[in-house]
Amino acid sequence: MKKIVIALDGYSSCGKSTTAKLVAASLGYAYIDTGAMYRAVTLYFLDHHVSLTNPKEVKDALNHIDIDFHYNPKTKRNEVFLNGLNVEDEIRKMYISDQVSEVSVVAEVRHAMVAQQRKMGKKRGVVMDGRDIGTAVFPDAEVKIFMTADVDTRAKRRQEELLEKKQLVNLGEIKENLLKRDLIDSTRKESPLRQAEDAALLDTSHMTIDEQVDFVLDKVTSALIHEERVLEQNLSERR
Ligand code: C5P
Repeated sequence: MKKIVIALDGYSSCGKSTTAKLVAASLGYAYIDTGAMYRAVTLYFLDHHVSLTNPKEVKDALNHIDIDFHYNPKTKRNEVFLNGLNVEDEIRKMYISDQVSEVSVVAEVRHAMVAQQRKMGKKRGVVMDGRDIGTAVFPDAEVKIFMTADVDTRAKRRQEELLEKKQLVNLGEIKENLLKRDLIDSTRKESPLRQAEDAALLDTSHMTIDEQVDFVLDKVTSALIHEERVLEQNLSERR
């Protein structure tokens, strides 16, 4: 069966990565968390005091950044490595969340990440979550979902996630961070966060994870049936 690209875009903390991971596991596809890549770049930029307004510094820094994902059988997660170092826990901290959207505005950063993401999904058979997958990285993705949820629900979910990592952050601070990131992400010049015209809207405010996964898998089934039909039609036209 043909392998396809599944793009899950949307606002911060509306369940994209949890849904994407489960969809990828059920299809035997790779899962790429593109937010983790922007977070890793942010960590590097902060550690090396890279000035976002100095294009040469940004370019030089990007030339020294190598981002990779490795599956950890212990945590059952695809973890992100920056220049060979596992930074999975570090990049989820609030000081990175506070800076990541400003770093993600920079055109050079976006070009480098998008190029790498396209390489990672070249063979298809991939579920990618982010902000611009269906609009900029893979505009030809066979399945595009745009996820949203009300901001209080999202803040609560993020707080629980952070608590699981033993980080205690108050709800107000989390909500403020989500709203700030949404605003920067959706108003930037280069590939802003927006719903692609052909993306299905998924509001997860009152949905369970299983329901979210079923929603995406339904779309995948329809897309695969469509792909099979196109293939059959092409074959019969050639006969
Ligand atoms: O998905 P996550 O919340 O970890 O993403 C962190 C940030 O990375 C987003 O708020 C956004 O600024 C940036 N991002 C992006 N494009 C993507 C994925 C993430 O600009 N495809």
